[in-house]
Amino acid sequence: MTSTPELFLPRPTCNQPKSIVILGSTGSIGRQALEVAKARPDLLRVVGLAAHSNTELFAAQIAEWRPQVAALWDEDAAQRLRSMVSGSTKILGGSGGVEEVATWPQSTLVLGAMLGAAGLGPTMAAIRAGKDIAIANKETLVAAGQIVTVEAREHGVALLPVDSEHSAIAQCLRGEESRSVTRLTITASGGPFVDTPRSELETVSPERALKHPTWAMGRKITIDSASLMNKVLESIEAYWLFDVPMEQIDVLVHRQSIVHSLVTFCDNSVKAQLGVPDMRLPIQWALLHPERVSGSPPPLDLFSMGPLSFEKPDAERFPSLNFGREVMQMGGTAPCAMNAANEVAVEAFLARRTGFYGITNCIAAVLERHENVKRPALDDIADADAQARRIADEWITRNSSVI
Ligand code: NDP
Ligand code: MG
Repeated sequence: MTSTPELFLPRPTCNQPKSIVILGSTGSIGRQALEVAKARPDLLRVVGLAAHSNTELFAAQIAEWRPQVAALWDEDAAQRLRSMVSGSTKILGGSGGVEEVATWPQSTLVLGAMLGAAGLGPTMAAIRAGKDIAIANKETLVAAGQIVTVEAREHGVALLPVDSEHSAIAQCLRGEESRSVTRLTITASGGPFVDTPRSELETVSPERALKHPTWAMGRKITIDSASLMNKVLESIEAYWLFDVPMEQIDVLVHRQSIVHSLVTFCDNSVKAQLGVPDMRLPIQWALLHPERVSGSPPPLDLFSMGPLSFEKPDAERFPSLNFGREVMQMGGTAPCAMNAANEVAVEAFLARRTGFYGITNCIAAVLERHENVKRPALDDIADADAQARRIADEWITRNSSVI
C-alpha cells in the first residue's frame, strides 16, 4: 500500500490571509465555509464565488463579501444577477464563467462544494491552474478519481478532504507511515431509516427521508445518507484519497456521529477522530491546513453525552452497500455510471417518480447495461456520465407506474 502523504503536504505559512474561492457558495457546505471565513478574517479572504442559479442568495453574498469574481452556471440567472449587483465584482455566467472563478489567479485554494459530477470540470481546471483543492464534492472523485488524483500529483497540488469521515482519516494518518495502515473504518449515522423495516422502506416518502437525525445537509446528500449510497461514494472517495484497497475499507454504523472515522494500523492500534457533528470543523481543517486554530465549531462535551454505539450496517435493507466493491472491481467508467445513475434516481425519488428502492434498482439496471471503458480519459468519463443518465431516465420512465 502506497498511501499519498504528498496530498497533505503542509504548505509554507505566511502572514497574509489565504485567498480562497468557493464553488457552491449558496449550498450547505458553501454557506458554512463563509461562516468559517467570517470567524477568521485574519486567516481567510474570499476572492471568488460560484453557484448554479440561486440569484437572491448569491447577490446577497456578493454584497457582503465583495469578491473579485463571481459566476453562476446558469446563463439566464447570471444575466439577472448583473442587474441585481453593483460594485467592482466581475460577474460571469455559464460553465466557462465557473471555470474562470475556479482558476482565478489571485486565489491559492479552491473549495469544491458544488453538487454532483458537474464539479469535475471546474475541479480539473483548478488543479491544472495549480490551486490546492479542499474537496467536499465527492461525486467528482467517484466519477474520475484516477484522473483527478494523477493530475493533482502532477501539478503538485494538495487534495484536502472536507467530508467529515475523510477529514478524520487524514487527521489520524498524520505522522504515520502509510505502509503501516491496515484498515479504514468509515462511520455512518445510519440515516433516518436505521431501524425502519424493509416492508416500510418500500413506500417511504421523500419527506421522511429528508429528516436526517444528526446532520443538516443539502437534499441530495441527505437522500444518499438515507439510502447509505453516501457511504458507497465515501468508500470510493477514501480509496482515491488514501490509496487503500476497497477490501480494507469498512462501514460502521455509529448513530451519534461523534466518532468521525477510524484507522487501524499493523500493530492493531486504532486511531479515531472525534468532534461534534458540525461541518464547520472539517471545513476549517481543510481551509486552514496545516494550521489548527480556534474558530466557529463548538467544543465536544463527552460528560453530557450518552453512550456511543457501533453496529454492522444491514446490507439486506440497504442493498446499495454492495455497489462499492462491485463497481471498483469493474473499474474504468463503472463508478462514474453508478454515480450518474444515483444522481438521476435521487432526483426522481424527490419528485416522487420512483420509490426508495427505485434508487438502487435504477443503479443496478444502469450498471447492467453500462459499456465500460477500462482506462478512461476525461471525454470517456463525460460520455459514460451522459449514457448512464440516459439509461437511468429511461428506466425511471418505464418503471414509474409501479410507485
Ligand atoms: P447543496 O445542494 O446544499 O448545495 C449545492 C451547491 O452547489 C449550491 O451552491 C448550488 O448552487 C451549487 N451548484 C449546483 N450545481 C452547480 C453547477 N453546475 N455549477 C455551479 N454551482 C452549482 O449541497 P451540499 O452543500 O450539501 O453538498 C455539496 C457537495 O458537498 C456535495 O458533493 C456533497 O456530497 C458534499 N458534502 C456535503 C456535506 C454536507 O454536510 N452538506 C458533507 C460532506 C460532503 P445553487 O444554490 O445556485 O443551486
Ligand atoms: Mg461524510
